[in-house]
Amino acid sequence: MKVIVLGSGGGSGIPNPFCLCANCETARANGGRSLRNSPAVLINDDLLIDCGSDVENSARQLGLRLHNLRTLIITHRHSDHLHPWFFWERRSVSGTELPLLTVYAPQDAIEDVVSFYQTSVAWDRETLEQRTRTVFRPVRAGMMKLAGRYRLRFFPASHGETRMEVVLVGVSDARSAYFHGYDSGPYSDELWAMLARYRFDAVALDACIGQQTDYHSDQHMTGPQTIAHAARMRADGILKPDGIALATHFVHQAAGSHDDLVRYYEPQGVTVAYDGLTLALGEPAGP
Ligand SMILES: [Zn+2]
Ligand SMILES: [Zn+2]
Ligand SMILES: [Zn+2]
Repeated sequence: MKVIVLGSGGGSGIPNPFCLCANCETARANGGRSLRNSPAVLINDDLLIDCGSDVENSARQLGLRLHNLRTLIITHRHSDHLHPWFFWERRSVSGTELPLLTVYAPQDAIEDVVSFYQTSVAWDRETLEQRTRTVFRPVRAGMMKLAGRYRLRFFPASHGETRMEVVLVGVSDARSAYFHGYDSGPYSDELWAMLARYRFDAVALDACIGQQTDYHSDQHMTGPQTIAHAARMRADGILKPDGIALATHFVHQAAGSHDDLVRYYEPQGVTVAYDGLTLALGEPAGP
């Protein structure tokens, strides 16, 4: 299974175009891996996790095609994870036969998309599904779905107000498994108990708060929490001994230079994600 990080930023990404803070200016000066689009992960070429405002730009910048997408998972309705115009682009392809796209998302995120098209172009849900070759299927934590060659397991997050539904997701095929563990604050006992049954080749963890000392939230993780979650996953066997723990969903309040993040996280066994990072899970190492 190939896991491609399309965007390793959170919120507006890094830099925030409106912002002149030291981190944004550092990222602008450094370029390269310090520049981060909003969060999304592509599995092989047919499964996408989240479709925030930067997804199409990420695909363009990385030279990737999305024509073969068959499954889209939307973790939650926050705008860095769900950009409703994403579906609009699917109605205007030429010389391209798009496969049906099945979207698994919390019910409130589906309602956001449906009402957006109702308001913007007066399409009802049926018209939206037909014109964009898409079907929407509600999911919530605890569910399992089969999507082509993938098995999807949905888990509860610690994120957002109680009125918003959020899912984390495990994606596995015959040879490997990936856990998409953000956006989330520190995991609940319920989630740890559920995860104990699985063994992942790679996990992606929320690193949104990082080393900020003047911002407190239980909706995202601090650097020490990200590191502790990775260590516990390894110790409990949720992450295989040679598995990869990724820190991702960086924001400009907490991250400027990619190299500084590497110096902080990597000695602790946590790999710093960047846009375009590609993991080949369950595949023999190259020559
Ligand atoms: Zn987010
Ligand atoms: Zn900034
Ligand atoms: Zn969020």
